[in-house]
Amino acid sequence: MKEVDDILQVRNLRTYFRTDNGLVRAVDRISLGVRRGETVGIVGESGCGKSVTALSIMNLVRPPGRIVAGQILYRSGDGSTTDIAKLHPNGRQMRSLRGNNIAMIFQEPMTALTPVYSIGDQIAEGVMLHKKLTRRQARERAIEILGKVGIPSPEKRIDDYPHQFSGGMRQRAMIAMALSCEPEVVIADEPTTALDVTIEAQILRLMKEMQSQLDLSIIMITHDLGVIAEMADRVNVMYTGKIVEHAQTDDIFYNPKHPYTLGLLQSIPTIGDKRRLTPIRGAVPNLLTLPEDVCYFAPRCPYAMEICAQAEPPMYQVGTAHQCKCWLYEGNEVVAV
Ligand code: SF4
Repeated sequence: MKEVDDILQVRNLRTYFRTDNGLVRAVDRISLGVRRGETVGIVGESGCGKSVTALSIMNLVRPPGRIVAGQILYRSGDGSTTDIAKLHPNGRQMRSLRGNNIAMIFQEPMTALTPVYSIGDQIAEGVMLHKKLTRRQARERAIEILGKVGIPSPEKRIDDYPHQFSGGMRQRAMIAMALSCEPEVVIADEPTTALDVTIEAQILRLMKEMQSQLDLSIIMITHDLGVIAEMADRVNVMYTGKIVEHAQTDDIFYNPKHPYTLGLLQSIPTIGDKRRLTPIRGAVPNLLTLPEDVCYFAPRCPYAMEICAQAEPPMYQVGTAHQCKCWLYEGNEVVAV
C-alpha cells in the first residue's frame, strides 16, 4: 500500500480510557489507510474498539478516554497534511476539519439528531458555519441535499422535526447532514443497524451513489459481514482493540487467514446451506483484565498453541496486500510488531 495515495493514514494509534477500575486499551496500536474514493471496512464484534477508532479519527474522544499515542494524518486536497491526533478537540482547526472535511454518520439518528430543532435547521447550521452561506442560501442547500438523499418533497419536509421522520428517513437525513458540506471522508458507524433489511439496502445504495458522485472516501464500521461484502474495497478485522487481519474484501471472504475472521465467517448463515452454524466459543474478554504480551484470541481459538499464551504475535505479510496477526504464519515477513 503506497501511503502517498492515502487521504487518511492512522499510524500506531492508541486510545485508552483511565477508569476507576483500571486502564482500558480500547484502541491499541492500530494502523490503517484510506485512499481517495474507496471504502475501507472495519469489522468485529461489539466491544472490539471499532467505534472508539471512529471517535478518535473525529477527535471526539472525551475523558476518561484519551488518544495517548499515534498519528491520524489527514491529507487535504491542496496536498497539506494535518495530524488530527495533535489538534485540540475543541480548537479552531479541528472544528473547521470536523464536518467540513471529515464527517460522521452515527449509528442511531434519533439520538444523534437534536429533537428540538427542525431537520432543515440542523443541516443549515453546519453549512452556514463551514461554507459561510447566508441563512437563506443554507436553507436552499439543505433542500437540495435532502432531495439528493431521496426525501420526498424536501421543500416541505425541511421544517419537520426528527420525530416526524420514519427511521429510514432519519438515517437519510443523517447522511444529508454528513454530506451537506461536501466532505472528503465520511465515517459511517453502523449506519444501517437500526433499520430493516429493505431500508438497509436503500441506504447502502444511496451511500454508493453519493460516493461516486462526490468521490468520497468512506470508512464503514459494522459488525455485519453482509454490509462489508456489499460496500468495502478493503477490510480491517478488529479484535480487542487491535487489527488482526487486513486484506482486500475478496480475500477476507474467500481466503481468510486469521482464526477470528474464520470464526466470524462460519457463524453467518448462507441461504440454501443446511449445515449447522459454528459460533465462536466464549465472548470478547473484559478489556480491563487483559494480560499483556499474549494473543487475546487464544482462549477462544481452536488453533491456539503454547506460544499464543506467552507472546503477542506480530503482523505478518500473508499475501499481496494481505496481513494477519497470528503465530500460525510465523516465518512470513513481519510488517508490524
Ligand atoms: Fe489462535 Fe494463536 Fe493465532 Fe491467536 S496467535 S489466533 S491463539 S493461533
